[in-house]
Amino acid sequence: MTARPVLGILGGGQLAQMMALAAIPLGIQCHVYDPDPVAPARLCAIHHCAAYDDTAALVRFAEAVDVITYEFENIPLSCVSFLNAHKPIMPGISALQVCQDRLTEKTFARSLGFATAPFVDLVPTLSSTDALHAVGAPAILKTRRMGYDGKGQQIVQNAEELDRARATYGTLELILEGIVPFLHEVSIISVRAPDGTTVRYPLIQNTHRHGILRTSIAPAPCHTAALESLADQIASTVLDAVGYVGVLTVECFVVAAPGGSTLVINEFAPRVHNSGHWSIEGATHSQFDYHVRAVMGLRIDPPELRGWSALCNLIGDEPADNDIPVGVAVHRYHKTPRPGRKVGHLTITTTDHATLQHTIDACSELTGIRIP
Ligand code: ATP
Ligand code: MG
Repeated sequence: MTARPVLGILGGGQLAQMMALAAIPLGIQCHVYDPDPVAPARLCAIHHCAAYDDTAALVRFAEAVDVITYEFENIPLSCVSFLNAHKPIMPGISALQVCQDRLTEKTFARSLGFATAPFVDLVPTLSSTDALHAVGAPAILKTRRMGYDGKGQQIVQNAEELDRARATYGTLELILEGIVPFLHEVSIISVRAPDGTTVRYPLIQNTHRHGILRTSIAPAPCHTAALESLADQIASTVLDAVGYVGVLTVECFVVAAPGGSTLVINEFAPRVHNSGHWSIEGATHSQFDYHVRAVMGLRIDPPELRGWSALCNLIGDEPADNDIPVGVAVHRYHKTPRPGRKVGHLTITTTDHATLQHTIDACSELTGIRIP
C-alpha cells in the first residue's frame, strides 16, 4: 500500500477512540496526544503521552502526522496555535476560539440572526440585581469557559443566591443565562468538507439528567419540516461563516412559537458529539467517519439512516454482556468507572419507533443506565 496520510488527534478520550477506529478502514492511521497514560484511544492509535505545554513533545507529534484535529474544545489555545505553525489544524483556530467561551459563542449565534437564551456578561461591576433584571429569574450561572456535562453551572432564584454563587467562583469569568422554557432538546450534527460540501443528519432528540446526556433518538420524534428547515439554515450559515472543515454540533432547545415550534441555540461543539454516537450503527456514514473524511479531504456523501436509532449512555457503571438485550450494540470505552463518568454507550437500531421505545424501556433498568 502507498503511504497514506496520518491524522493527529488532540485528546485521547472515547471520541478520539471512535475517530481512530473509523479512520482504520479508510486506510488512515491516527496518533493521539493526551497527558493521561491510560487515555482510552491508546488502544487503537499511537499515543503521545505528554503535557499540552510540552513543546518538544508537541513538535514530535506534529512531525509524525499530516493533519491535526481535536476531540474536545477546551484545549489550551496556546497549544493549538503552536501546533498550527507546524501542521494544518481542522476545524480551524477561529472555530475553537468562538466555541471555547459561552459569551463569544452566544454573541456569534446572535450576530448570524439566530435566537439564544437571554444572557449577560457577568462582569464584577454588574450587580446581581441588574443582571437578573436583564435575563429574568430564576437564571443559570455558568463559567464562560471549560464547562462540560453541566459542570460549572448553578441555578439561582434571586439576587442573594446569585451573590453567594458568584463568590464561589473566585476570579473565573462568568455568564448569566435566562432559563429557556424548552419543550425538547435537540442537536444538529453536520459536516463540511474543504470544498464547501455540507451534509447533516436529521435532528436528534436528547434527554439530560443532572446536566448529563442520558439518551438520544434519531430522527427526533419532535421533528417537523419547519424545524428541519431551520436546522439546515443554522448548520449551513454557521459552517460557512467560519469556513469550517469537519463535524460541527449545534445543541438547541425546541420552544413553542406562534404557529408551531422553533429552535433556540444553546451551544456549539466544534467536534463529534455524544448525541451522534448512534450513527456508528444507525447510518451509512458515522459522525466519526465523516469527521475523518472531511479533515483528510476525502469525499462526503449524504447519510442514509438505517431506520430509528437510540443512544443510551452508560454512566458510572457498565452492564454485564449477558444482560444486554439481543441486537443492542455495546461500546465500552475502557475507562475506570466512577460516579457521573461516561464509561460506554448502547445503540439500539430498529425499523419502527414503537420497537425502539420498547427496547429503550428494556435497557432502562440495566446497570449504568438506571436514572437516580
Ligand atoms: P455539555 O458539554 O454536556 O453539553 P455543558 O456543561 O456545556 O454540557 P450546557 O449544554 O450549557 O452545559 O447545559 C447542560 C444542560 O443544562 C442543557 O442540556 C440543558 O438541559 C440545561 N440548560 C443549560 N442552559 C439552559 C438554559 N439557559 N435554559 C434551560 N436549560 C438549560
Ligand atoms: Mg451542552
